Amino acid sequence: MALFAEKVAVITGGTSGIGRATAIAFAKEGAKVVVAGRREKEGEETVALIQKAQGEGIFIKTDVSVSADIKNLIEKTIFTYGHLDFAFNNAGIEQTPGSFPEATEEEYDRIMDINVKGVWLSMQYEIAEMVKQGSGVIVNTASVAGLVGMSAVPIYVASKHAVIGLTRSAALEYAKSGIRVNAVSPGGIQTDMIDRFVGTPESETEFRQQLQSMHPVGRLGTDEEVASAVIYLCSPGASFITGQSITIDGGLTAQ
Ligand code: NAD
Repeated sequence: MALFAEKVAVITGGTSGIGRATAIAFAKEGAKVVVAGRREKEGEETVALIQKAQGEGIFIKTDVSVSADIKNLIEKTIFTYGHLDFAFNNAGIEQTPGSFPEATEEEYDRIMDINVKGVWLSMQYEIAEMVKQGSGVIVNTASVAGLVGMSAVPIYVASKHAVIGLTRSAALEYAKSGIRVNAVSPGGIQTDMIDRFVGTPESETEFRQQLQSMHPVGRLGTDEEVASAVIYLCSPGASFITGQSITIDGGLTAQ
């Protein structure tokens, strides 16, 4: 029997990168997957990839910074599949690198709205369902930027520190309710976000080479390497793990 047979997983930011890879990984383990994101075409592409992996899933158009969208996401999930076992709150955006005076108030608000308020809103609605069931596992996407400071992207760093704070606090509040809450903290992972940040692999920019060499293993990670940590955190094997952040960074923060 598949690890997650009869289970239901919601994944925000499931339209690309880490979210898409994790949606496929959940489907391969037998879970029904609800893919949430703003981009309809890419969302349906993820559903097609889930079906190609012999899985089942639906796409629900969702902007995680809008509470009505999150409410609709969780209501439709329950209406379609009857329950909610796993939530991977992964949608996020990067900061354009720059000095403190260069960043704008609009950029601050946009990053905080998506990276922090989006995770908080998602957990509000997910937890309400999971409390009714008496079970559930939540994994939030933080970052190594949630563990250490980094120059040039302070707003992103602050937003990811906040994700870890939300994760720990929710884990403590619901530890006796059968709900576990953890985070994954990736280092540099080869996705569209990294391409926007340091240029595509083909461009071989100095910034990209610097980023690669910062990782002791000498390369960036893959979205599947993050997905496998999310699957583990949701599995019965992780039943005593809550309030933690698992770092997936090729040794970056061990230095
Ligand atoms: P990505 O850009 O491919 O994925 C981010 C996804 O979030 C996209 O599908 C995007 O459309 C979606 N999204 C953005 N704003 C949204 C909103 N308001 N509502 C719904 N969806 C929204 O990049 P990724 O690398 O897969 O990023 C996934 C997560 O991983 C992000 O939270 C990011 O901060 C985090 N992360 C990435 C890296 C990396 O090196 N790639 C490292 C650490 C953490």
